[in-house]
Amino acid sequence: MRVHELAKELGLTSKELMDRLHALNVEVRNNFAALSPDQVALVRKNAGAPAAPVEAAASKPTPKPAPAAPVKAAPAPAKPAPAAPPPPAPPPPPPPAPKVIIIKGPIVVKEFAEQLGLKPNLLIAELMTMNVFASINERIEFKVAQQLASRHGASIEHEKKAPEPKPVKKIEPKVEEPRPEDIRPRPPVVTFLGHVDHGKTSLLDRIRHSKVVQSEDGGITQHIGAYTVTYRDHPITFLDTPGHAAFTAMRARGANLTDIAVLIVAADDGVMPQTKEALQHARAANVCIMVAINKIDLKSAVVDRVKRQLQHEGLAPEDWGGQTICCPVSAVTGEGIDHLLEMILLQAEMLELKGNTRKPARGFVIEARLEAGSGPTANLLVKEGTLSVGDAIVCGRCWGRVKALINDQGIKVRTAGPSIPVKCLGLNGVPEPGMEFVVYPNDREAREIAEQREAANRLQAISAPRRASLDDLLKPAEEQPRTELAIVLKADVQGSLEAIRQALSGIKSEKVSLRIALAGVGNITGNDVLLASASNAIVVGFHVSKEDGVAALAKREGVEIRLYSVIYQLLDEVRDAMAGLLSPVIKETLIGHAEIRQVFEIGKKGNVAGCMVTDGRVTSRARARVKRADDVLYEGLVVSLKRFQDDASEVREGLECGIRLDRFTDFKPGDIIECYEVQKIEQPL
Ligand code: GDP
Repeated sequence: MRVHELAKELGLTSKELMDRLHALNVEVRNNFAALSPDQVALVRKNAGAPAAPVEAAASKPTPKPAPAAPVKAAPAPAKPAPAAPPPPAPPPPPPPAPKVIIIKGPIVVKEFAEQLGLKPNLLIAELMTMNVFASINERIEFKVAQQLASRHGASIEHEKKAPEPKPVKKIEPKVEEPRPEDIRPRPPVVTFLGHVDHGKTSLLDRIRHSKVVQSEDGGITQHIGAYTVTYRDHPITFLDTPGHAAFTAMRARGANLTDIAVLIVAADDGVMPQTKEALQHARAANVCIMVAINKIDLKSAVVDRVKRQLQHEGLAPEDWGGQTICCPVSAVTGEGIDHLLEMILLQAEMLELKGNTRKPARGFVIEARLEAGSGPTANLLVKEGTLSVGDAIVCGRCWGRVKALINDQGIKVRTAGPSIPVKCLGLNGVPEPGMEFVVYPNDREAREIAEQREAANRLQAISAPRRASLDDLLKPAEEQPRTELAIVLKADVQGSLEAIRQALSGIKSEKVSLRIALAGVGNITGNDVLLASASNAIVVGFHVSKEDGVAALAKREGVEIRLYSVIYQLLDEVRDAMAGLLSPVIKETLIGHAEIRQVFEIGKKGNVAGCMVTDGRVTSRARARVKRADDVLYEGLVVSLKRFQDDASEVREGLECGIRLDRFTDFKPGDIIECYEVQKIEQPL
């Protein structure tokens, strides 16, 4: 039994118990020291408690002491019994309550130092002693902070989280079993993708103007993000924003609207980088892909060449025995457009696109804005069900009762079915593009859902991590991680200056930027040094020398001057200097585990853990952490590693060893010692 355990049992502080032990001539070093059963019995006896059997003494004290209990551990009451011989020590003044630091979010060195009442540099130095290398604006781990806090008589706690918002109801309005007659074919939704200038917009316009018959109601074409054309009595919906950027942006928000992607390739230009990129995006979206070979009216058009290129990209044309439908078209003359539409319908037929028209509608926002006179308007594409005027809809945090629906020809309609785009009026706000909308049975439910989302959103905004403030940005340079290398560049002639400047601009790095504070021809002057000093720059000279007095000035100002006569050497060293600004990454490599089987006391030097290396290896220079179940009790250094009586530099899996750790002795059999190595890795640019 250990001193602190017995002290707890007797309701004493460890210090008090140690005093008593001294009075009883029992020498103990600290409150972790183990007491023999006889010593425990002696203390108990003197404290007026009956000596408990060894077994029970080792067990946990029972919470409610029963002084006369015969066998079970019977800890003494907090106050010694009246008959106890040694007079109780006067109660020590209660220790000052430890300062509690409340932690919100990440623990940043600077803030944490303030909370502890320390100077940041002192804290950084202290961290270094713990082998943690963190700069002033870097975060440290909770456990490290905990250790630091306890060194300074404080403790840390996470800020209590605000109560969870009421769970947002799942946006699943009641759905009736679909009747077979409600499941109807729906129009395909088509997106045009392809390289810039290959004619996506021209084709969309051409199709729209040639196929959308102005209705008798006199509506005017409305740009609502998508439009529907009818070809041979079959509607097709085209999304108005061509290009894979918009396509993927919508997808990223969860709006998978497209059924068929038509890759537009100009017949004169052929497959270009963005064609390939667009193809990758369409493939990633797992949509059906067709090709339209545009600009066939041009003399320079070579359709077969494009087909060959397509084949190379894995899009073997159908007429060449492949699977991909390729339609030669011209947005200028209109040639091949009908064929393209026909093929789109054929493809749609094969995809068997169907939608339930009777369901409450759901779909996605294509665009939304605030319109003078109409308030918030949202251009919606219905995915399933039928959206009707008077429906209660929720769209993100917005909700409303549908006041009016306007189709792509500017005509007011009462309903919009699957794959039909409409402009919707009546929402109480402007939703974001890509948001899903859902119809609810009534206004009350719709409002409730939107309000819950609004509340959840607000809470998230409040607890969102603090962004860098202006104060952070205005901090003096030395407090900010330096990620810019500034140079003052001097060369012998304009030609070499330009060549070096060009070469330097070719050093690409996302982490460190290179800034040329000054570039000039001629020897390095005092002014160059002063400028370098003011802009925290280094002076780089190519085929030049220093003017008189410059060396001394540079030394005084602490400015580095480097002279070169070989351009590659100059470039290499500038690159190295840039890399040198990057703080090394600290990498931890786990090397092995050892399980403690037995603990040996070896007098003054503390305890040795008798271990079995269960995996990997343990080395005498490793760092170690002691784990008990999921708790990490200690992190520090291995100070001695022995195989039997001999010092060992390394002990491998399956072998026994004795491990002593730096200032930690509270081992228990079953604890795991995890060994790891810490490497500082220079970051590449
Ligand atoms: P996008 O960047 O893919 O949307 O391409 P645009 O539709 O803006 O077209 C780029 C250029 O190609 C424009 O100058 C169009 O007039 C021209 N263009 C588009 N289609 C055709 C076509 O079929 N034939 C010819 N000759 N020019 C076309």
